[in-house]
Formats: sequence, structure tokens, C-alpha cells
Amino acid sequence: MLVTPNQSAQSTKSLSLGQRAVGAYVGLAVGDALGATTEFLTPREIREKHGVHDRILGGGWLRLKAGQVTDDTEMSLALGESILARRGVEAAAVAEAFSEWMRGKPIDIGNTVRRGIVHYRTTGESAVAMNEFDAGNGACMRSLPIALFYCDASHEERMLASRAQSHTTHNNPLADAGTETMVEMVVSAMRGLDKSMLETMALSLVSRFPLYRFDKRRMENPSGYIVETLRAVFQAFFSNYSYQETLIDVVNRGGDADTTGAIAGMLAGAYYGEEGIPHHWRESLNTKAMLACRDQALSLLAQGRQKYTTQDR
Ligand code: MG
Ligand code: MG
Repeated sequence: MLVTPNQSAQSTKSLSLGQRAVGAYVGLAVGDALGATTEFLTPREIREKHGVHDRILGGGWLRLKAGQVTDDTEMSLALGESILARRGVEAAAVAEAFSEWMRGKPIDIGNTVRRGIVHYRTTGESAVAMNEFDAGNGACMRSLPIALFYCDASHEERMLASRAQSHTTHNNPLADAGTETMVEMVVSAMRGLDKSMLETMALSLVSRFPLYRFDKRRMENPSGYIVETLRAVFQAFFSNYSYQETLIDVVNRGGDADTTGAIAGMLAGAYYGEEGIPHHWRESLNTKAMLACRDQALSLLAQGRQKYTTQDR
């Protein structure tokens, strides 16, 4: 077990579902903005340049403004808008939303994501074929709106929605399993489950796909391969006791740091709530992104609750 009791652990017991939902979305954007500075650097290069990287500075290979977010947050917002407009995931509407987002010439876009959107534009199909090389983290990084809208839906319905949004660009069993586990972990964290329960969920993924083992070697320089991404996220989340410590740990590992920051940020944000995210980080975040995330978190939660608590399951 990686989880041990710690006196300095942030208290999370009294948080409401709404505080946790907003925490998850703002946590995602803060992690993205924080990690973008160290994306593609090695831990050694980060130490030489920043000592410990712990401020939202912008820069990085994308030359961002301080507080600017990247595709991780933007694609989540595009997915969320599509869900709100259709009251659920409709693959064609999601593919169209991603295509529209790409039309706006985003600051960054993953190769697999681009390929999936081009496939949709040229064929009209909203799912790509299974591909053993598509085990990237691009579907996982934008999966938070699924956890929010389908929070009260059945597990099966939530998994179908997760798969439909994922397969617009990524269709791979390993990536699906990682993304679905993360969605379930975020839902459970929003419901207030403790860390040992969340760890059981991560270990269940490991038992099905042993590549995800995260108890051995420290995962530094995690690539965009979902296995490396989630190993770094699990290690950081389960060995730290606050949002701040978790995020500083994961973004100082370098590699795909905006995405490990975004995924660790949504999980830790759901667990520690909005107030658990350092005030100076929330203040540094681009205001428009911050407001969009807060607003969408509450809208997705409310619309999903309305749909799934008023209809027969
Ligand atoms: Mg990014
Ligand atoms: Mg990235």
C-alpha cells in the first residue's frame, strides 16, 4: 500500500459534490497551465532551469502566456459543450465539436487527435478503427466531462459514453481501460471515497493490464503513452497528501507534463476540492478559462443529475 496516514493531509470530509466538481475542472486547468512550462523537459533540465517548478509562469516550448491553458483543457471544454447541447454524448456531435475546435487553430494538438479529426472530416465517421499504436493519453486528458455529466448514471452508461468520446480519435483497449479507470476514480473521488478505495480501483486496472504497475520504478519523463502517463499520475496522487504536493511532484517529472498535470489535477481537484487548490495558482490561471471551467463543471453536474435522477435506470 502506498497510502499511509499523514497528519498534514488536507481534510476533505466536509466537501460538497459541487465543490469537488469545480475542484476537478479548475484542478485540470491549473495542472495543464502549470505543467505546460515543463513539457518535454527532463527532470534534470527542470532542476537546472527552475530548481523546483512550482509557479504558473507560461513559457515552455509553446511559449505560452502565464496562466494560458492548452489542448487538454480546451478539448475538455469542447466535449463538455457538446454534451450540454445534446444532453449526453453523441459521437457525431462530439467529433463535430472537436473538428470545430481544430478549425480555430489551437496552440497545440496531438498527432492522433489530428488524425481522428481528419478521418471524421473526410469520411463522416465519428469513430476511428482499432489501432494497436493509438494508446496515447489524448482521450483520457479530456475525459472529465464524462465523469461530471454521468456521475449519477449507471456504470454501464458512463462507460459507453467514455468509449464513444474516446473513439472519435483513439481506439485502443489499453487506452480505453486507462481512461475508463480514471473516469471511475474521478466519480468516486467526487462522491467522497477515501484514497484506499481509489487505490483499489487503480490496482484493479493493474490486475487486468499489468503494464500499469506503479509500485516499482519512479516514472520520470512520462511520455504521451497512456501507461506512462497514468503510472506517473498514480505515483504522484497516492504518495502525496495535498493538491499542491501532488501537482508539484508530477510536473517536475517532465515529459508530457501538461497532460500529467491535467489528469493528476482533475483527480486531485475532485479529491481535495476547489479550496484545496492553492489560491495563487487559481489567481494565476487565465480568467476566461477559469470561468469556463467553473461554469461548465456546475452545468454538467446539474444537467446530468437532472437527467439521471428523474428517469428509471
Ligand atoms: Mg496540452
Ligand atoms: Mg501534453
